[in-house]
Amino acid sequence: MDERLKSLLMIQSIDTQFGNIRREKEHTPKEIERLGEGLDLLKNAMEQDLSTLEELKIERRKVERELEEIDLKLKKSRLRLNDVKTNREYQAVLKEIEELKELAFQREEAVIKWMEEIETQEKECADNTARWEESQEEYKSKEKHFSQRMRELDREVESLNEKRARLSPDIDEDLLRRYNGLRMHLRGRVVVPVIDGVCQECHLGIPPQQYNELIKGDSLQSCPHCSRIIYWGNDSGIEGL
Ligand SMILES: [Zn+2]
Repeated sequence: MDERLKSLLMIQSIDTQFGNIRREKEHTPKEIERLGEGLDLLKNAMEQDLSTLEELKIERRKVERELEEIDLKLKKSRLRLNDVKTNREYQAVLKEIEELKELAFQREEAVIKWMEEIETQEKECADNTARWEESQEEYKSKEKHFSQRMRELDREVESLNEKRARLSPDIDEDLLRRYNGLRMHLRGRVVVPVIDGVCQECHLGIPPQQYNELIKGDSLQSCPHCSRIIYWGNDSGIEGL
C-alpha cells in the first residue's frame, strides 16, 4: 500500500476519534442537566408535601381548640347542675350538656380523621425525602463521574492532537487538502477500502479496469460514484482503520 495512504488512514482514524469525543462532550452536559431537572421536580414535590402537612396540622389544632372550648363549657354546665333551683332549669342544663357532648363527640371524630390524614401525609413526606436524598446521591456521583470523564476526554484530545501533529509532515499537502475537502462535504469515512470491487462507503461497484489499477496500488484512486479516496481492501490487513 501507498505510504501516503497509510498516514492518511491514521489521520482519518484520529479524526474519527475527535468526532466521537466531540459528540460525547456535547451529550454529557445535557444528561447532567436532565438529571438536575428531575432532582428539582422531586424537591418541589417534597416541599409541596411538607406544606400540605403543615396545613393538615393547623386544621387539627383548630379542631383541638374547639374541643377544649367545648370541654370547658361542659365543665361549667355540670357545675351549674348543682345550683339549679327548678326542675325546668335542671332539664334545660341537662339538654345543654347533651348537646355539648354530641358536639365534643363530633370534634373528637374530626381530630381522629385529621390525625389519620397527617399520618398518611407524614409517610408520603418520608418516602419523598428518602427518594430525593437517593436521587441527590445519584446525581452527585454521576456528576463526579462525568467531570472525571470530561478530564479524560480532554487528555485524549491532547494526545490525539500530538499524534496528528506528528503525522501531518508525512502527508502530501495536496492529498491532505483533498482529504479535508471531502471531510467537509461527506458523512462517514472519506478514505475507504474497496472490497471485491465494491466501494465500502457508497456500496457501488468500481469499473474492472480501475479495480485492477487499485490492486496494483501504484496510484491514488477516487471512487467514481462518491469521490472518496479508495484503496484495495482485500488482504490489506488495515481494513479496521
Ligand atoms: Zn464510493
